[in-house]
Amino acid sequence: MRVAVLTGGVGGARFLRGLVDAVDPAALTAIVNVGDDVEVLGLNISPDLDSVLYALSGLADEERGWGRADETWNALATVESLGGESWFRLGDRDLGLHLVRTQALRAGDALSTVTARLAAAVGLELTVLPATDEPLRTWLDTPNGTFPFQEWFVARAHRDPVDRVRFEGATDARPAPGVLDALHEADLILIAPSNPFVSIGPILAVERIRSALERRRVPCVAVSPLIGGRAVKGPAAEMLARLSGGTSAAHVAQSYAGLIDALVFDKADAHDTDAVSELGVRPIIASTLMRDSATRRRLAEATLDAVAFA
Ligand code: GDP
Ligand code: CA
Repeated sequence: MRVAVLTGGVGGARFLRGLVDAVDPAALTAIVNVGDDVEVLGLNISPDLDSVLYALSGLADEERGWGRADETWNALATVESLGGESWFRLGDRDLGLHLVRTQALRAGDALSTVTARLAAAVGLELTVLPATDEPLRTWLDTPNGTFPFQEWFVARAHRDPVDRVRFEGATDARPAPGVLDALHEADLILIAPSNPFVSIGPILAVERIRSALERRRVPCVAVSPLIGGRAVKGPAAEMLARLSGGTSAAHVAQSYAGLIDALVFDKADAHDTDAVSELGVRPIIASTLMRDSATRRRLAEATLDAVAFA
């Protein structure tokens, strides 16, 4: 069975780790958000692609929840002592990857080409694709001003309430090579438990990706990133409350209106079952907290089971 997954960084990467235990990784394609990509210290950083690469290769720092294990921070300390740009936390090991990517991009390689090389180098069997090779950047309009994603998320600690999310470059962005093929050849399309607005939103802002989902002939199943109406981590619940008027499973389903056939959500939100059904979306209740490899795999299996019904 071929599976294509739309995903952001940390939450999505956790889900992908369960999936590679449940399906043949060679038949799995991750289509990854690039709206958070940023240039820091002259380097091209793709945080969500890196979260996926690190998590699936076992290089991630699971306790910190981002970046690499056994990380040291000497380069950043030097930058700071010299008065350089130090708001974005880049560890020494992490920097090595950014150097390689930045050099390749400057030499004219596409982001998808570099990503494929990095994924092979860390030993991944699944296909990892950026949603697009072209610049697509997420901006947030807030009562305190308009900010590029990382400034809002990291520098301002996502404290500003969001009135609107915008995707600069999206109208012109073409899907990266392989993205549409993966969607057309998939037996099942999944949307990972990632932030609907700032992780999945930028991917769906690429017109041809959205229309591929709208015209799908196979089931598309999303997994909710909320448990009991709250995010496991990050601003998803605050954003959903402010932009969609609530944090129920139905509000999550609504953010994928016309694009999904089923929504997997936690038993803590079981009271939302009827409201999800009323949207024409099949409700699938599961344990969705991914604590360890067993719980990750169980969620992946519950999601794959949806294909039998959707
Ligand atoms: P980011 O790009 O690194 O912010 O990561 P994602 O957008 O892919 O993931 C962030 C989302 O993952 C948050 O909204 C979390 O609530 C969600 N998340 C993290 N861990 C879990 C989990 O164990 N279960 C579920 N259902 N969602 C999770
Ligand atoms: Ca992200």
